[in-house]
Amino acid sequence: MIEISGGCHCGAVRFSAKLPDAPVPAIDCNCSICVMTGFLHVMVPHDDFDLITGRDVLKSYRFGTGAAEHLFCSNCGVKSFYQPRSHPGCWSLNAHCFDEPVELAIEDFDGRNWEQAKASLDASS
Ligand SMILES: [Zn+2]
Repeated sequence: MIEISGGCHCGAVRFSAKLPDAPVPAIDCNCSICVMTGFLHVMVPHDDFDLITGRDVLKSYRFGTGAAEHLFCSNCGVKSFYQPRSHPGCWSLNAHCFDEPVELAIEDFDGRNWEQAKASLDASS
């Protein structure tokens, strides 16, 4: 296990999390919102994540099925973590928002064809 910290650009949102030893599995998704936000996913079980500050500045955005809750800082607009639809028991952290770079093992996720991509993700795990 390694311990990381991170947060949004203005520093209002701060978190810490426990990750598996490097290289840490990460997911690069090509769906509409991940491309626009430049989000690089590291999935962390809810119990391994601590939101230290920023609960009051987070804004929520939902679209499509509404299953995912996209959270962004209302000061700086940066989405440093959110509740993904694909992993209901995890937060998805944005690897670009970590304080120190972590060695990642990046896999592509075809979020533009979400149903098929999720099925093959489940089959491989
Ligand atoms: Zn911010």
